[in-house]
Amino acid sequence: MNFVKEETTIESVREMFTAFLEQKKMRKTPERYAILEKIYFNDSHFDAETLFEDMQKEYRVSLATIYNTIDLLLDCSLIVKHPFVGKKAKYEKTFSKLVHHHLICTICGTVKEFSDKKMRNLIESKSFATFEPSHYSLYLYGVCAKCKGKKKN
Ligand SMILES: [Zn+2]
Ligand SMILES: [Zn+2]
Repeated sequence: MNFVKEETTIESVREMFTAFLEQKKMRKTPERYAILEKIYFNDSHFDAETLFEDMQKEYRVSLATIYNTIDLLLDCSLIVKHPFVGKKAKYEKTFSKLVHHHLICTICGTVKEFSDKKMRNLIESKSFATFEPSHYSLYLYGVCAKCKGKKKN
């Protein structure tokens, strides 16, 4: 079984968002789609402020619209909010090319990504009876090399 939709395209992501907005009877504004595309053309973790700054180069949207759209995208599961350490909430697109996991430093909040084929095969070979999984990520918490170095001094 391979439940992770790796071939999810920007078109199918747009369609999912459209279906969601229509169902909620919300307006399909170009700003909302511009934000969605910006997120999906990027491969990194982001917070609302950096996304806002990045957007300004191409498409002027207000910070309020960014926050509002992030909420909508969370609501329809097109992005996930990471349980990272730090003041700023970090988000990431749900459907990315590579299934990956996160190493999180509990001191400085730095996040490193890794992927592992064996782990992946193990998780994806599991079946869950009536439960249908769509995506997943693992979080490993610990201390990064930089913080470990500081601790010793
Ligand atoms: Zn650290
Ligand atoms: Zn990630």
